[in-house]
Amino acid sequence: MSAQPPDLVLHDATVVTMDPRLPRARTVAVRRGRISWVGRENHTPPRNARRIDCRGQTLLPGFIDAHAHILALAARLLAVDCAPAKVSSIRDLQAAVARRAAAASSGSWIRAGGYDDFHLREKRHPTRWELDAAAPAHPVRLNHRSGHAIVLNSPALAAVGISADTPDPPGGVIERRPGSAEPTGLLIDVDSFLDGRIPRLSERELDEGVRQADRLLSSRGITSVQDATPSNPDRWDLFRRLKRSERLTPRLTAMIGHRHVDRFLERRLGPGAGDHDLSVGPVKIMLAVDNGLLTPSRGEMAHAVRYAHEAGFQVAVHAVEAQAVEAAADILDGGRTDRIEHCSECPPRILEKLRGSRPVIVTHPGFIHHSGDRYVSQVSERERPWLYRVRSLMQAGLVVAAGSDAPVSEPDPLRAVHAAITRRARSGGLLTAHEAVDAHDALAMHTINAALAARLESDRGTIQVGKLADLVLIDRDPTAADPDDLLDAKVTLTIIGGRVVWEA
Ligand SMILES: [Zn+2]
Repeated sequence: MSAQPPDLVLHDATVVTMDPRLPRARTVAVRRGRISWVGRENHTPPRNARRIDCRGQTLLPGFIDAHAHILALAARLLAVDCAPAKVSSIRDLQAAVARRAAAASSGSWIRAGGYDDFHLREKRHPTRWELDAAAPAHPVRLNHRSGHAIVLNSPALAAVGISADTPDPPGGVIERRPGSAEPTGLLIDVDSFLDGRIPRLSERELDEGVRQADRLLSSRGITSVQDATPSNPDRWDLFRRLKRSERLTPRLTAMIGHRHVDRFLERRLGPGAGDHDLSVGPVKIMLAVDNGLLTPSRGEMAHAVRYAHEAGFQVAVHAVEAQAVEAAADILDGGRTDRIEHCSECPPRILEKLRGSRPVIVTHPGFIHHSGDRYVSQVSERERPWLYRVRSLMQAGLVVAAGSDAPVSEPDPLRAVHAAITRRARSGGLLTAHEAVDAHDALAMHTINAALAARLESDRGTIQVGKLADLVLIDRDPTAADPDDLLDAKVTLTIIGGRVVWEA
């Protein structure tokens, strides 16, 4: 970032430091972008320092989103918003797409996203024909919230070359009309097939999406993001451009794709390279289960892990299904801070293995709110207790950090804290109440534990002298408020490196 921010004194705050040695304070001073003083008394500010009267509001370490996808979030914010909060039926969805089409030049792509079949009144995916009815003259791409399903209308199917004659691409499914080969428009896990067939966002569109994502993150008190998309060097360069032009305010740590390790090393972008604004994070390995088979295989994954470790990298393994989590638990050796992303299913047998291999677990309390109802209705009573566990993992001595997985769920730490404390879904139903944690632990997941997850704890995650002055001010104290009060809680100030980046 450019010129040195002014020195600050934040006084009359309820400071929740997340530092056990001095858990509470009233005043925090900032010098040259770092915390220079934390105390119980009011502090005489150095000359020239800006004084901020916090009026008793709660000052916390800036929130760290340990797992998000910034560019997908940017694309999602530009797309027609079909999230359950906006759209409750296929008819609503059609109306929203039609409105966008009416304003778009003919033939241009209409992007829509965030729909969830479970929350649509019809309880199913829309079809190509329904999208045709809304926008007959435009190719339409409708993304499911999970990121795994896409619906294309007829012009879009034609544009990407999918017809009754197209076989299912490897690992993907083209849904067909019963009794025929005719595609219905619903495509599952076909991202790599579509890559290059659907035009990318223009640079101008991307910048606008990033601007909106940036505002959203700052307004929610997020000061650091760990981007979980496996980056290649081009993506790294794009991030660098976005940071240098100050389009992206939060500090960014980019995970790198395990196939690109050599290319990063050739550019001297080794473990932790970069600076506090943009740094190289863990090597990301995607571990999927396809028809009962792990891809990559255990052997291939062990090789990729060893390769990353030999170069000094931390490893982050994407593992959702129990089978994948188990393989990750077996292969990560416990000798260093590696991490498992999602850890969605974790039966007791696997929890025992995790106790031995001790990875940081990056989970998504926001999913409890957004998808809890679906889990309760679709996951068997036997399996449900093992979904998105938190408390049991902490009791097993593991560090558990929180990520939004944005755009899968909204980046909204306060709502995620609420979900971690209450385990309550949208409708109010409970998802395994015994996995609830207290407010302090829920905040730790979004601060110090998320810092630990990327080996950034010496600079971030607590309010302590010497750490970066990344701070968030909230209009109530999450550790004292009634949990439901948190649903109305507001971020009033977000500070990164001593610079106010957002003010309500
Ligand atoms: Zn993700």
